[in-house]
Amino acid sequence: MRISPVKTPVAAAPAFKAKIIDGHAHLGKWGDKYYGVEMLDKFIKEPININVDGVKSQDTIEKMIVSSAFAITDNGRMADELTGNEQMLKMIEGKKEYVPIAVCQPNKTGGDISKLEELFNKYPEKFKGLKFHPTALPMENESDFMKAYEPYMKFAQKKKLPCFFHCQGGQASAWNIYDLAQKTPEVPVILGHSGSIANGENINRENAIKVFEDALKTKKANIYMDLSWVDWSEQGFPSKEQPNIKRILTVAKENNGLNKVMFGTDAPLGCFGEWESPHFNNKTCYSDTVNFIKKTVSNMFGRESKKVNNKIFYENASQLYLNTLSPKQKLIKKGSIAAGAVLLCAAGAAFFLKNNSKSGTSNTELKSKINTRKK
Ligand SMILES: [Zn+2]
Repeated sequence: MRISPVKTPVAAAPAFKAKIIDGHAHLGKWGDKYYGVEMLDKFIKEPININVDGVKSQDTIEKMIVSSAFAITDNGRMADELTGNEQMLKMIEGKKEYVPIAVCQPNKTGGDISKLEELFNKYPEKFKGLKFHPTALPMENESDFMKAYEPYMKFAQKKKLPCFFHCQGGQASAWNIYDLAQKTPEVPVILGHSGSIANGENINRENAIKVFEDALKTKKANIYMDLSWVDWSEQGFPSKEQPNIKRILTVAKENNGLNKVMFGTDAPLGCFGEWESPHFNNKTCYSDTVNFIKKTVSNMFGRESKKVNNKIFYENASQLYLNTLSPKQKLIKKGSIAAGAVLLCAAGAAFFLKNNSKSGTSNTELKSKINTRKK
Protein backbone atom coordinates (compact mmCIF):
# COMPACT_ATOMS: atom_id res chain seq x y z
CA MET A 1 0.00 0.00 0.00
CA ARG A 2 1.24 3.37 -0.92
CA ILE A 3 1.48 5.74 1.96
CA SER A 4 0.65 9.25 0.94
CA PRO A 5 3.38 11.72 1.86
CA VAL A 6 2.95 13.63 5.08
CA LYS A 7 1.44 16.96 4.36
CA THR A 8 3.06 19.83 6.17
CA PRO A 9 0.56 22.40 7.34
CA VAL A 10 0.37 25.35 5.01
CA ALA A 11 1.98 28.29 6.73
CA ALA A 12 0.17 31.58 6.67
CA ALA A 13 1.26 33.32 3.50
CA PRO A 14 3.71 36.07 4.32
CA ALA A 15 2.59 39.59 3.50
CA PHE A 16 3.36 40.15 -0.15
CA LYS A 17 6.33 42.43 -0.42
CA ALA A 18 6.75 43.59 -3.96
CA LYS A 19 9.82 45.09 -5.49
CA ILE A 20 9.62 48.28 -7.52
CA ILE A 21 11.87 49.83 -10.14
CA ASP A 22 11.09 53.52 -10.61
CA GLY A 23 11.72 54.11 -14.31
CA HIS A 24 11.90 57.91 -14.16
CA ALA A 25 14.02 59.94 -11.73
CA HIS A 26 16.47 62.84 -11.84
CA LEU A 27 19.61 63.97 -10.03
CA GLY A 28 21.76 67.08 -10.22
CA LYS A 29 21.24 70.77 -10.81
CA TRP A 30 18.23 72.00 -12.73
CA GLY A 31 17.88 75.78 -13.04
CA ASP A 32 18.47 77.21 -9.58
CA LYS A 33 17.52 73.98 -7.80
CA TYR A 34 19.80 71.17 -6.75
CA TYR A 35 18.41 67.64 -6.51
CA GLY A 36 20.76 65.67 -4.25
CA VAL A 37 20.87 61.92 -3.88
CA GLU A 38 19.37 62.15 -0.38
CA MET A 39 16.12 63.30 -2.01
CA LEU A 40 15.81 59.88 -3.67
CA ASP A 41 17.46 57.89 -0.87
CA LYS A 42 14.46 58.52 1.37
CA PHE A 43 12.26 56.41 -0.93
CA ILE A 44 14.82 53.65 -1.24
CA LYS A 45 16.03 53.30 2.36
CA GLU A 46 12.80 52.05 3.89
CA PRO A 47 9.78 50.32 2.35
CA ILE A 48 6.64 52.23 1.41
CA ASN A 49 3.22 51.33 2.81
CA ILE A 50 0.76 49.82 0.39
CA ASN A 51 -2.95 49.26 0.93
CA VAL A 52 -5.06 47.91 -1.91
CA ASP A 53 -8.64 47.03 -0.93
CA GLY A 54 -7.57 46.68 2.70
CA VAL A 55 -4.72 44.28 1.86
CA LYS A 56 -1.69 45.88 3.41
CA SER A 57 1.89 45.29 2.40
CA GLN A 58 5.20 47.04 2.18
CA ASP A 59 6.88 47.49 -1.17
CA THR A 60 10.56 48.17 -1.63
CA ILE A 61 11.87 50.60 -4.21
CA GLU A 62 14.80 48.48 -5.31
CA LYS A 63 16.15 50.68 -8.08
CA MET A 64 15.58 54.01 -9.78
CA ILE A 65 16.49 54.85 -13.37
CA VAL A 66 18.22 58.24 -13.09
CA SER A 67 19.36 60.87 -15.56
CA SER A 68 21.53 63.94 -15.12
CA ALA A 69 19.82 67.29 -14.72
CA PHE A 70 23.23 68.99 -15.18
CA ALA A 71 23.17 68.01 -18.86
CA ILE A 72 19.60 69.17 -19.50
CA THR A 73 19.24 72.44 -17.62
CA ASP A 74 19.83 75.79 -19.29
CA ASN A 75 19.53 74.24 -22.75
CA GLY A 76 22.54 72.04 -21.98
CA ARG A 77 24.90 75.02 -21.74
CA MET A 78 26.01 74.01 -18.26
CA ALA A 79 27.65 70.72 -19.16
CA ASP A 80 28.26 68.62 -22.27
CA GLU A 81 27.47 64.94 -22.77
CA LEU A 82 30.71 63.85 -21.11
CA THR A 83 30.92 66.22 -18.14
CA GLY A 84 27.16 66.46 -17.50
CA ASN A 85 26.70 62.71 -17.23
CA GLU A 86 29.98 62.30 -15.37
CA GLN A 87 28.84 64.77 -12.68
CA MET A 88 25.78 62.63 -11.93
CA LEU A 89 27.80 59.44 -12.00
CA LYS A 90 29.92 60.83 -9.15
CA MET A 91 26.75 61.46 -7.11
CA ILE A 92 25.73 57.79 -7.28
CA GLU A 93 29.17 56.23 -6.94
CA GLY A 94 28.95 52.90 -5.10
CA LYS A 95 25.14 53.04 -5.00
CA LYS A 96 23.84 50.09 -6.97
CA GLU A 97 20.22 51.12 -6.47
CA TYR A 98 20.64 53.94 -8.99
CA VAL A 99 20.77 52.93 -12.65
CA PRO A 100 22.07 55.77 -14.83
CA ILE A 101 20.96 56.55 -18.37
CA ALA A 102 23.05 59.04 -20.36
CA VAL A 103 21.56 62.40 -21.34
CA CYS A 104 22.18 63.18 -25.01
CA GLN A 105 22.34 66.63 -26.58
CA PRO A 106 21.73 66.23 -30.31
CA ASN A 107 20.69 69.90 -30.44
CA LYS A 108 24.25 70.88 -29.51
CA THR A 109 26.19 68.19 -31.36
CA GLY A 110 24.08 68.06 -34.54
CA GLY A 111 24.60 64.30 -34.52
CA ASP A 112 28.30 64.12 -33.68
CA ILE A 113 28.32 61.35 -31.06
CA SER A 114 32.05 61.48 -30.27
CA LYS A 115 31.51 62.90 -26.75
CA LEU A 116 28.95 60.18 -26.01
CA GLU A 117 31.33 57.51 -27.29
CA GLU A 118 34.04 59.00 -25.07
CA LEU A 119 31.67 58.73 -22.11
CA PHE A 120 30.88 55.08 -22.83
CA ASN A 121 34.57 54.27 -23.39
CA LYS A 122 35.54 55.94 -20.14
CA TYR A 123 32.77 54.23 -18.15
CA PRO A 124 32.05 50.94 -19.89
CA GLU A 125 28.86 49.12 -18.83
CA LYS A 126 27.78 51.98 -16.53
CA PHE A 127 24.99 53.58 -18.54
CA LYS A 128 22.00 51.36 -19.28
CA GLY A 129 20.16 53.61 -21.70
CA LEU A 130 20.02 57.02 -23.40
CA LYS A 131 17.84 59.95 -22.38
CA PHE A 132 16.53 62.64 -24.71
CA HIS A 133 14.67 65.82 -23.79
CA PRO A 134 13.59 67.51 -27.03
CA THR A 135 11.53 70.07 -25.05
CA ALA A 136 14.35 71.42 -22.86
CA LEU A 137 17.01 70.68 -25.51
CA PRO A 138 15.27 71.65 -28.76
CA MET A 139 16.93 71.77 -32.18
CA GLU A 140 17.35 75.32 -33.40
CA ASN A 141 16.09 74.21 -36.82
CA GLU A 142 13.38 71.61 -36.50
CA SER A 143 14.20 70.34 -39.96
CA ASP A 144 17.58 69.08 -38.63
CA PHE A 145 15.91 66.82 -36.05
CA MET A 146 16.25 63.48 -37.84
CA LYS A 147 19.79 64.14 -39.03
CA ALA A 148 20.92 65.02 -35.49
CA TYR A 149 19.07 62.20 -33.66
CA GLU A 150 19.68 59.29 -36.01
CA PRO A 151 23.37 58.72 -35.08
CA TYR A 152 22.27 58.38 -31.44
CA MET A 153 19.63 55.83 -32.34
CA LYS A 154 22.18 53.84 -34.32
CA PHE A 155 24.53 53.98 -31.32
CA ALA A 156 21.67 52.68 -29.13
CA GLN A 157 21.03 49.91 -31.63
CA LYS A 158 24.69 48.88 -31.64
CA LYS A 159 24.95 48.94 -27.84
CA LYS A 160 21.44 47.48 -27.29
CA LEU A 161 20.32 50.46 -25.18
CA PRO A 162 16.74 51.61 -24.60
CA CYS A 163 16.05 55.28 -25.38
CA PHE A 164 13.90 57.34 -23.02
CA PHE A 165 12.28 60.44 -24.54
CA HIS A 166 10.61 63.24 -22.68
CA CYS A 167 7.37 63.26 -24.68
CA GLN A 168 5.23 66.39 -24.93
CA GLY A 169 4.44 68.56 -27.95
CA GLY A 170 6.52 70.15 -30.71
CA GLN A 171 9.81 68.35 -31.30
CA ALA A 172 8.99 66.08 -28.34
CA SER A 173 5.64 65.03 -29.82
CA ALA A 174 4.82 61.34 -29.93
CA TRP A 175 4.50 61.39 -33.73
CA ASN A 176 7.89 63.03 -34.15
CA ILE A 177 9.53 60.50 -31.81
CA TYR A 178 7.66 57.71 -33.63
CA ASP A 179 8.98 58.85 -37.02
CA LEU A 180 12.49 58.65 -35.59
CA ALA A 181 11.92 55.34 -33.76
CA GLN A 182 10.85 53.66 -37.02
CA LYS A 183 14.35 54.13 -38.43
CA THR A 184 15.71 51.69 -35.82
CA PRO A 185 12.59 49.58 -35.14
CA GLU A 186 14.16 47.19 -32.65
CA VAL A 187 15.47 49.92 -30.31
CA PRO A 188 13.11 50.28 -27.33
CA VAL A 189 11.78 53.85 -27.22
CA ILE A 190 10.00 54.98 -24.06
CA LEU A 191 7.47 57.84 -24.30
CA GLY A 192 8.01 59.81 -21.07
CA HIS A 193 4.81 60.69 -19.17
CA SER A 194 2.94 58.81 -21.93
CA GLY A 195 2.82 62.25 -23.55
CA SER A 196 2.86 65.11 -21.05
CA ILE A 197 -0.22 67.28 -20.66
CA ALA A 198 0.65 70.87 -21.60
CA ASN A 199 -1.49 73.96 -21.03
CA GLY A 200 -4.31 71.73 -19.84
CA GLU A 201 -4.58 70.14 -23.28
CA ASN A 202 -4.73 66.41 -23.66
CA ILE A 203 -3.48 66.27 -27.25
CA ASN A 204 0.03 65.01 -26.39
CA ARG A 205 -1.45 62.14 -24.38
CA GLU A 206 -3.92 61.31 -27.15
CA ASN A 207 -1.09 61.20 -29.66
CA ALA A 208 1.12 59.07 -27.42
CA ILE A 209 -1.67 56.51 -26.93
CA LYS A 210 -2.28 56.40 -30.70
CA VAL A 211 1.42 55.89 -31.36
CA PHE A 212 1.63 53.16 -28.71
CA GLU A 213 -1.33 51.32 -30.23
CA ASP A 214 -0.06 51.68 -33.80
CA ALA A 215 3.41 50.45 -32.82
CA LEU A 216 1.95 47.41 -31.04
CA LYS A 217 -0.26 46.56 -34.01
CA THR A 218 2.21 47.19 -36.85
CA LYS A 219 5.57 46.54 -35.09
CA LYS A 220 6.91 49.55 -36.98
CA ALA A 221 8.77 50.59 -33.82
CA ASN A 222 9.36 49.30 -30.31
CA ILE A 223 7.37 51.80 -28.22
CA TYR A 224 7.02 51.74 -24.41
CA MET A 225 4.87 53.92 -22.12
CA ASP A 226 6.10 55.63 -18.93
CA LEU A 227 3.34 56.29 -16.36
CA SER A 228 4.92 59.30 -14.64
CA TRP A 229 2.37 62.13 -14.09
CA VAL A 230 -0.39 60.27 -15.93
CA ASP A 231 -3.76 61.07 -14.27
CA TRP A 232 -2.92 63.70 -11.70
CA SER A 233 -4.98 66.05 -9.52
CA GLU A 234 -4.94 69.77 -10.21
CA GLN A 235 -3.45 70.34 -6.77
CA GLY A 236 -0.37 68.35 -7.75
CA PHE A 237 -1.26 65.10 -5.99
CA PRO A 238 -1.77 61.55 -7.28
CA SER A 239 -5.34 60.93 -8.37
CA LYS A 240 -7.58 57.95 -7.62
CA GLU A 241 -9.36 58.53 -10.91
CA GLN A 242 -7.16 57.04 -13.63
CA PRO A 243 -8.99 57.13 -16.96
CA ASN A 244 -5.78 57.49 -18.98
CA ILE A 245 -3.92 54.71 -17.19
CA LYS A 246 -6.98 52.52 -17.87
CA ARG A 247 -6.84 53.40 -21.57
CA ILE A 248 -3.10 52.71 -21.79
CA LEU A 249 -3.54 49.36 -20.05
CA THR A 250 -6.52 48.47 -22.25
CA VAL A 251 -4.50 49.18 -25.41
CA ALA A 252 -1.62 47.15 -23.95
CA LYS A 253 -3.88 44.25 -22.98
CA GLU A 254 -5.64 44.08 -26.33
CA ASN A 255 -2.40 44.21 -28.31
CA ASN A 256 -0.16 41.95 -26.27
CA GLY A 257 1.80 44.91 -24.88
CA LEU A 258 1.61 44.57 -21.11
CA ASN A 259 5.38 44.13 -21.14
CA LYS A 260 5.69 47.68 -22.48
CA VAL A 261 4.15 49.80 -19.72
CA MET A 262 6.37 51.01 -16.90
CA PHE A 263 5.89 52.75 -13.59
CA GLY A 264 7.85 55.97 -13.06
CA THR A 265 7.48 59.07 -10.90
CA ASP A 266 9.86 61.89 -11.99
CA ALA A 267 11.16 62.07 -8.38
CA PRO A 268 12.37 64.29 -6.82
CA LEU A 269 10.28 66.73 -8.85
CA GLY A 270 6.82 67.96 -7.84
CA CYS A 271 5.28 66.35 -4.76
CA PHE A 272 8.06 63.73 -4.78
CA GLY A 273 10.57 66.18 -3.33
CA GLU A 274 10.58 69.58 -5.03
CA TRP A 275 7.89 70.74 -2.62
CA GLU A 276 6.08 69.14 0.29
CA SER A 277 2.50 69.59 1.43
CA PRO A 278 1.86 69.97 5.19
CA HIS A 279 -0.77 67.21 4.83
CA PHE A 280 0.98 64.75 2.54
CA ASN A 281 4.71 64.34 2.75
CA ASN A 282 6.81 63.16 -0.19
CA LYS A 283 6.66 59.52 0.91
CA THR A 284 2.88 59.56 1.24
CA CYS A 285 2.67 61.02 -2.23
CA TYR A 286 4.88 58.20 -3.48
CA SER A 287 2.94 55.41 -1.75
CA ASP A 288 -0.40 56.92 -2.89
CA THR A 289 0.86 56.90 -6.48
CA VAL A 290 1.75 53.21 -6.21
CA ASN A 291 -1.49 52.40 -4.34
CA PHE A 292 -3.78 54.09 -6.85
CA ILE A 293 -2.16 52.44 -9.87
CA LYS A 294 -2.28 49.04 -8.14
CA LYS A 295 -5.95 49.62 -7.36
CA THR A 296 -6.69 50.46 -11.02
CA VAL A 297 -4.86 47.31 -12.10
CA SER A 298 -6.75 45.29 -9.49
CA ASN A 299 -10.11 46.58 -10.81
CA MET A 300 -9.13 45.85 -14.40
CA PHE A 301 -7.35 42.53 -14.11
CA GLY A 302 -8.81 40.81 -11.03
CA ARG A 303 -6.96 37.57 -10.35
CA GLU A 304 -4.30 38.46 -12.90
CA SER A 305 -3.55 41.79 -11.19
CA LYS A 306 -0.57 40.59 -9.15
CA LYS A 307 1.12 39.40 -12.33
CA VAL A 308 0.30 42.59 -14.21
CA ASN A 309 1.46 44.80 -11.34
CA ASN A 310 4.71 42.91 -11.16
CA LYS A 311 5.30 43.61 -14.84
CA ILE A 312 4.48 47.32 -14.61
CA PHE A 313 6.31 47.98 -11.36
CA TYR A 314 9.34 45.72 -11.78
CA GLU A 315 9.76 43.11 -14.45
CA ASN A 316 9.43 45.29 -17.56
CA ALA A 317 12.05 47.80 -16.40
CA SER A 318 14.28 45.03 -15.14
CA GLN A 319 14.23 43.28 -18.52
CA LEU A 320 14.64 46.50 -20.44
CA TYR A 321 17.44 48.20 -18.52
CA LEU A 322 19.12 45.29 -16.73
CA ASN A 323 18.63 42.62 -19.39
CA THR A 324 17.19 40.09 -16.95
CA LEU A 325 15.29 38.02 -19.55
CA SER A 326 15.86 34.29 -19.21
CA PRO A 327 17.52 32.57 -22.23
CA LYS A 328 14.09 31.05 -23.09
CA GLN A 329 12.36 34.44 -22.94
CA LYS A 330 15.11 35.90 -25.15
CA LEU A 331 14.49 33.20 -27.76
CA ILE A 332 10.73 33.89 -27.75
CA LYS A 333 11.39 37.60 -28.07
CA LYS A 334 13.82 37.02 -30.95
CA GLY A 335 11.16 34.88 -32.65
CA SER A 336 8.53 37.60 -32.37
CA ILE A 337 10.93 40.21 -33.78
CA ALA A 338 11.67 37.91 -36.75
CA ALA A 339 7.92 37.39 -37.30
CA GLY A 340 7.43 41.15 -37.11
CA ALA A 341 10.13 41.69 -39.75
CA VAL A 342 8.41 39.24 -42.11
CA LEU A 343 5.10 41.06 -41.65
CA LEU A 344 6.85 44.35 -42.28
CA CYS A 345 8.27 43.11 -45.61
CA ALA A 346 4.88 41.71 -46.61
CA ALA A 347 3.26 45.07 -45.91
CA GLY A 348 5.70 46.55 -48.46
CA ALA A 349 4.44 49.60 -50.33
CA ALA A 350 1.44 50.05 -48.04
CA PHE A 351 3.82 50.52 -45.12
CA PHE A 352 5.67 53.35 -46.83
CA LEU A 353 2.51 55.06 -47.98
CA LYS A 354 1.10 55.01 -44.47
CA ASN A 355 4.42 56.09 -43.03
CA ASN A 356 4.62 59.10 -45.31
CA SER A 357 1.13 60.25 -44.51
CA LYS A 358 2.06 60.07 -40.83
CA SER A 359 4.99 62.44 -41.41
CA GLY A 360 2.38 64.99 -42.41
CA THR A 361 0.78 64.69 -38.99
CA SER A 362 4.06 65.14 -37.23
CA ASN A 363 4.96 68.25 -39.20
CA THR A 364 1.77 69.94 -38.04
CA GLU A 365 2.51 68.70 -34.52
CA LEU A 366 6.03 70.11 -34.73
CA LYS A 367 4.60 73.57 -34.95
CA SER A 368 2.68 73.23 -31.70
CA LYS A 369 3.87 75.20 -28.72
CA ILE A 370 6.67 73.90 -26.53
CA ASN A 371 5.95 73.98 -22.86
CA THR A 372 8.78 73.32 -20.46
CA ARG A 373 6.89 72.79 -17.22
CA LYS A 374 7.37 69.06 -16.83
CA LYS A 375 10.82 67.56 -16.86
ZN1 LIG B 1 11.54 63.69 -16.01
